[in-house]
Amino acid sequence: MRGDIVESPHMAAQGDLNPGFCLRSCGAAVRGRMKFTQLRSIHLQLDFSMAFAVASDEVLGTFVPVAVYWIYSGIYALLGDLDEYRLHNKAEEDTKNVVSKSTVVKGVLVQQAFQIAVSLSLFSVGRANSGLAAGPALAIESWLDQSRPELAMRPSPMLPTSPCDLLLGHVADLVPILWLELAINHGVVSDDNGTKVQPSLLTLAIQFMAAMFVLDTWQYFIHRYMHINKSLYKHIHSKHHTLVVPYAYGALYNHPLEGLLLDTLGGALSFVVSGMTPRTGIFFFCFATIKTVDDHCGLWLPGNLLHMFFSNNSAYHDVHHQLYGTKFNFSQPFFVTWDKILGTYMPYSLEKRKEGGFEVRPIKVKS
Ligand SMILES: [Zn+2]
Ligand SMILES: [Zn+2]
Repeated sequence: MRGDIVESPHMAAQGDLNPGFCLRSCGAAVRGRMKFTQLRSIHLQLDFSMAFAVASDEVLGTFVPVAVYWIYSGIYALLGDLDEYRLHNKAEEDTKNVVSKSTVVKGVLVQQAFQIAVSLSLFSVGRANSGLAAGPALAIESWLDQSRPELAMRPSPMLPTSPCDLLLGHVADLVPILWLELAINHGVVSDDNGTKVQPSLLTLAIQFMAAMFVLDTWQYFIHRYMHINKSLYKHIHSKHHTLVVPYAYGALYNHPLEGLLLDTLGGALSFVVSGMTPRTGIFFFCFATIKTVDDHCGLWLPGNLLHMFFSNNSAYHDVHHQLYGTKFNFSQPFFVTWDKILGTYMPYSLEKRKEGGFEVRPIKVKS
């Protein structure tokens, strides 16, 4: 395999045997000579070819929650209108929601694609730069050499030359490496024989609770700040609030930056702080996804366990989506703790409507 590296004219020209460095150098060479669309196409192929080469818990943790989102919200869609259990009637949904359902589906897909691309890029670049798996990096090097021989033959004029460039280059390399190291080795313990084992049930429960608390804390403060800062609200968070009458598959109808900030970053933080393994992370991210979808289902179904166990549920979050409630009930997705501590908790009652279904009525509205 080492021979393969030296055979690459590009790498030999750089005198560097680090596959990650070579990958960056190739990227720089490409940037110097190709149109943006061609460059983007190459980067996408790089990301996915590398990502699929490392299909494991960290990759599953990226894809499975997306599948769970559409399966769980799809079940709600298949249940139909369920007028007896709706929090808003159909007429209200049609008049108050100013965005079509096809636009919502496209918006959610775009956001999920954006989050998947960010996660896989970090995993892929991290794996290549850390030298954890030289295979994918070498495969890309080889692919670049074969498909763009003119690029491989020429040294790049855009390699970092100044100390500042070198420093920035190292920082850019370090972030994905740390991300990947955390994703692979985080929370994993070994037995006496050195075999990796999953933690005990008690440890799992504690990690789950810790992750729920961290995610709630992160999302409360970021979410609340997006309401306080008028510019952030106008350009980013208002997109989520176009659904005044929420429904299940609109749960993640957000601006992509909001998804990245609240969900991807919040998820990464809760994963790191809780000390859970990547496998536990898959279950945690799926549970958080199910909870978020359920909070936006717009229904109050009998026997819903999530409604029984969590005060933060579809009725509670419905208050936040109403015009009178946008300064209250910021907490999501699990508990109401931060709203209660910081005085943004709005109690409500659930009243039966004459025409069927329920109405969420605030008990008191603060100015
Ligand atoms: Zn909001
Ligand atoms: Zn919402």
